[in-house]
Amino acid sequence: MDLYSGHINKLIEELSSLPGIGAKSAQRMAFYIINLPKERVERFAKTILEAKENVKYCQTCYTLTDKEICPICANEKRDHRTIMVVENIRDLAAYEKTGKYEGIYHVLHGAISPMIGIGPNDIKLKELMKRLEEDIDEVIIATNSSLEGETTAMYISKLIKPTGIKVSRIASGVPVGGDLEYIDEVTLLRALEGRIEL
Ligand code: ZN
Repeated sequence: MDLYSGHINKLIEELSSLPGIGAKSAQRMAFYIINLPKERVERFAKTILEAKENVKYCQTCYTLTDKEICPICANEKRDHRTIMVVENIRDLAAYEKTGKYEGIYHVLHGAISPMIGIGPNDIKLKELMKRLEEDIDEVIIATNSSLEGETTAMYISKLIKPTGIKVSRIASGVPVGGDLEYIDEVTLLRALEGRIEL
């Protein structure tokens, strides 16, 4: 149904392709954008473009950053011998928010999922193994407690075991299938403190 002009439809379509944005919200956002002053829309469009052009992966931990090395990896006060492995940047942000974790991170950008054809080579696993050639005391696996997260944790621990580096898994208590980002800080800290050596 061609209720609106082509340009409006296109805008609604783009917006509704964003995560968590349904058709109704996309429509509301599109009308809102159309009614904004032109300079405001230009600034918004420029911000998106500049973020896309300037933000890249940290060369060490693969979180997003403006620099070659992210502020966490560049911070000398942090414990560089402890690496926490997380599935995505949102999980890293959740642990950072607790303010209690002093080590550094490694972002996998996904989890192993044979069901949808994501194998070990499709996530930043080789990059993690490369980091373990340096002096590392412990790798804390903080992947989600979903099937994919558990599969990934098992796979990683089997890879690391022969190196003699301590491998631990955050304690359950994190709800099964629950995305780490939605879990409160107390639960996250408890999961971290109660981690079990694999
Ligand atoms: Zn980093």
